[in-house]
Amino acid sequence: MKMEQVSDNCYAVLNEKNLVCDANSGLINLGGGVVIDTQSDLAHARQMIELFGKVWPSMPKRVINTHEDADHVWGNQLFDGAEIIAHQTVPERMKEVADPKESQKLMHGVGRFLTRILLKATHPGVLAAGEQLREDYNFDNIELVLPTTLFDERYELDLDGTPVHLIYVGPCHQVGDTIVHLPEEGVVFAGDVVFRLCTPMGWTGSYEKWLQCLDLITELNPTVIVPGHGPVCELEGISEMKAYLQYVRDESRKCFEEGLTSLDAAKRIEFGPYGEWRAPARLYMNVERAYREFRNEPPDAPWDAARTFDVIYKVAKAKGIEVEY
Ligand SMILES: [Zn+2]
Repeated sequence: MKMEQVSDNCYAVLNEKNLVCDANSGLINLGGGVVIDTQSDLAHARQMIELFGKVWPSMPKRVINTHEDADHVWGNQLFDGAEIIAHQTVPERMKEVADPKESQKLMHGVGRFLTRILLKATHPGVLAAGEQLREDYNFDNIELVLPTTLFDERYELDLDGTPVHLIYVGPCHQVGDTIVHLPEEGVVFAGDVVFRLCTPMGWTGSYEKWLQCLDLITELNPTVIVPGHGPVCELEGISEMKAYLQYVRDESRKCFEEGLTSLDAAKRIEFGPYGEWRAPARLYMNVERAYREFRNEPPDAPWDAARTFDVIYKVAKAKGIEVEY
């Protein structure tokens, strides 16, 4: 984990491995301090606090959660007394998708011999994901701390005269997607609307909304963008994300019209230049999302997480690449 200054008053903490759960955090070091997203477990959150602590005068008064996913909210409990701000859908969604109990069970199970044998036979993808996560993460003692200040379309902060705009852009990657724009600093904290040099994991939302949101970021014309995952970038990071989404949707359409399943489509579609990104077999999730749209299914149809990990495993094996999430 490393800290990077991205403008006069903004900083980012980046998890350089750039695999699942390696989410970034941001700091606006003004007006008592604002932290954007709080990491995936307590050890990472403490490390983030230590790094930001090198530049902030004291623990921040505010936290923003860019959306409801676990890897952006599981350090919330360490910001005692802070105001936590998010889109109005986020508290209920966090209870649904970021309940730590399931992940704690998985991590403990993967550590037990008999459960490992069983998982290997029934859910090899779940086992592989659990093993990968155990290398870096420990979900013990995480308690869900929900946002308390909720907003609808926009929310504005004035930090010592510097405006901060929270703009709701969901559902594109997830229901609560919010970007944080500081026009005077030329910075956008994009949350998981932007994955950089790693394959996007889209959950609930539409391609249309996601592409619109990327266009909005381009119009805001920031000098620097802090993605939810991956290194800090300029606008080329937005055009690459956009090209990826368009490529996967177009290729998925061809496969859909030929009658292929989303699994077979993910096996068939070439990674192309995106084979260089981390976890390219996560492609399956983006194909499946396109298929849901082609079938006119609601974007909030729930995901079976175990099945998703297993399918990504199968795609990686079929392509002869390392299984990574
Ligand atoms: Zn994330």
